[in-house]
Amino acid sequence: MTKKEYKFNPRTLTYDVITMPFRARFYRIARGAIVAFLFASVVNFLFSYFFYTPKMYRINKENNELVIKYSLMQERLRAAQKTLSEIAQRDNHVYRSLFAVDTLGVEGIYTPYPESKYVRMERDHFASLMIGTWSQMDDFARKLYLRSVSLDQLQAMSMDKEQMAASVPAIWPINKKLLRGSIGRFGGRNHPTLHVWKMHEGIDLGGRIGDPVYATGDGVVKSVSTMNGYGKQVLIDHGFGYQTRYAHLSRQIVEPGQRVKRGEQIAMVGNTGRSSGPHLHYEVIYMGHPVNPINYFRLDMSQQELDEIIASATATTYETD
Ligand SMILES: [Zn+2]
Repeated sequence: MTKKEYKFNPRTLTYDVITMPFRARFYRIARGAIVAFLFASVVNFLFSYFFYTPKMYRINKENNELVIKYSLMQERLRAAQKTLSEIAQRDNHVYRSLFAVDTLGVEGIYTPYPESKYVRMERDHFASLMIGTWSQMDDFARKLYLRSVSLDQLQAMSMDKEQMAASVPAIWPINKKLLRGSIGRFGGRNHPTLHVWKMHEGIDLGGRIGDPVYATGDGVVKSVSTMNGYGKQVLIDHGFGYQTRYAHLSRQIVEPGQRVKRGEQIAMVGNTGRSSGPHLHYEVIYMGHPVNPINYFRLDMSQQELDEIIASATATTYETD
């Protein structure tokens, strides 16, 4: 129904109905609609600028809750990490040393997540909080896994503790009274002739040609051979992840596959291979990686003697490579 407009007619003293042309009416309505729309938009804009709309209010509230949850999670993670590091401490310094095994490293046991894992979160407003928490969780998972592997190993070891105690290398490979000169130490060293940083995977014990060389733990002779660098060498497999190597020998007196007991003579000190003087190059290999043999001289010496030996070990070498 169209709205009628009236105009007073002074001549007839009545109201005449004014009929507007359709176009004029249309424009009037359109103008009204546009003005109303603009007005509503401005009000809406101002309102949302100064006040939260219910939807925004809800989102904001959820955001705040998420931030609180993340913070709580970080706190709990920190507490769990603290407990885990206490367990790791006991594991490394009590349990593992009871079985005379080295500290277990995370390398090679657990592949870390690629950095790209967090890329998707980087553009987020809360990126640092989220990435921080996630990487903390990943780190925690990694350490937890490492601990479980370590405990599995310990469990296996405890089943055969006696045999293990006899097998793990634990004495000097030569008579320490016959040691001549200082000990060439284990680890990275500046090579004496090549002048580059090179890993020395064992220790060098100076002696005289013919001095007896002893197996440092029960085991099976794995190889008796002559190699380029090592010269005449003997490799013994002790089980439980341990092997020992004796190199630059003058004579080997065991056969491959032969069972040997700790303290049994297996060879004689020599100067074969790339060696610059009579000495024994002695390696302890655990799980395929060389470890410092000095830490396995426990049965032969007191802690004080051991400390003195470690302090006197030098980077000088009897070897030419
Ligand atoms: Zn050496």
